Amino acid sequence: MPDLRTVLNAARSRLSDGYEADYLLAHALQRSGAWIMAHLDDPLEAALQHAFETAVQRRLEGTPVAYITGHRGFWTLDLEVSPATLIPRPDTETLVEAALERIPVGTPQRLADLGTGSGAIALALAIERPEAEVWAVDCSAEALEVARRNARRHGLDRVVFRQGDWLSPLQGSFDLIASNPPYIESSDPHLQRGDLRFEPAAALASGRDGLDAIRQLVAGSGRLLRPGGWLLLEHGWRQGPAVRSLLLSHGWSDAETLRDLEGRDRVTLGRRRT
Ligand code: GLN
Repeated sequence: MPDLRTVLNAARSRLSDGYEADYLLAHALQRSGAWIMAHLDDPLEAALQHAFETAVQRRLEGTPVAYITGHRGFWTLDLEVSPATLIPRPDTETLVEAALERIPVGTPQRLADLGTGSGAIALALAIERPEAEVWAVDCSAEALEVARRNARRHGLDRVVFRQGDWLSPLQGSFDLIASNPPYIESSDPHLQRGDLRFEPAAALASGRDGLDAIRQLVAGSGRLLRPGGWLLLEHGWRQGPAVRSLLLSHGWSDAETLRDLEGRDRVTLGRRRT
């Protein structure tokens, strides 16, 4: 029987990102990375080695690591993901931070996450603001199932899940609406490369200039926000000026673009006039 070290090193050299092999081995063995580091001299039994090799093979064929393991960390949460959901990205934590800065602690606010996917934004807001009423909307029933399981796993059963198109399922008036909508140009060649090929097209691309969904949200969100309420939108790093000018032409105030961890425009927000 080979030991873990031998099997791991062989996989590390086959995968372009070495850390991915560690991640896939941890998943195959259902152990932590720390456990593996402490047991590198242990023999690896055939069934587990087979499970690991199958995972490595899928990765070599392009499947994103998160779809192989079925998990991705976001904010403080470990989230289940599936090919029905976008894989949460660290960029989106910029949006969560900006939202939290605008949600006072200890007041019962109503918040919505549109196009919730795995539930990343909604659940991060719900865990940070226990007194808030959080609505999570997605048009995909399959994605909502994943999001509901994530809510249950983290004890966030009070999140309200609704299936439907963007703003249509919302009822009543909200203090803040957040969304990481699709925003890639439909002809962008990146959609045909890497992990993006495996993610739901409807969560990525949005018309010729990538702004179709954002235009809908900018035009429609105002009537669902209380005066002074906030709209926060994630977008591509070159879309900041376009999103700000959309907000201004629809009468929003306080239009401002924030940068992600890599220093690129990523989130634009606007406020419903009081
Ligand atoms: N940020 C993602 C990417 O460019 C796209 C996510 C989205 O469209 N909301 O890979």
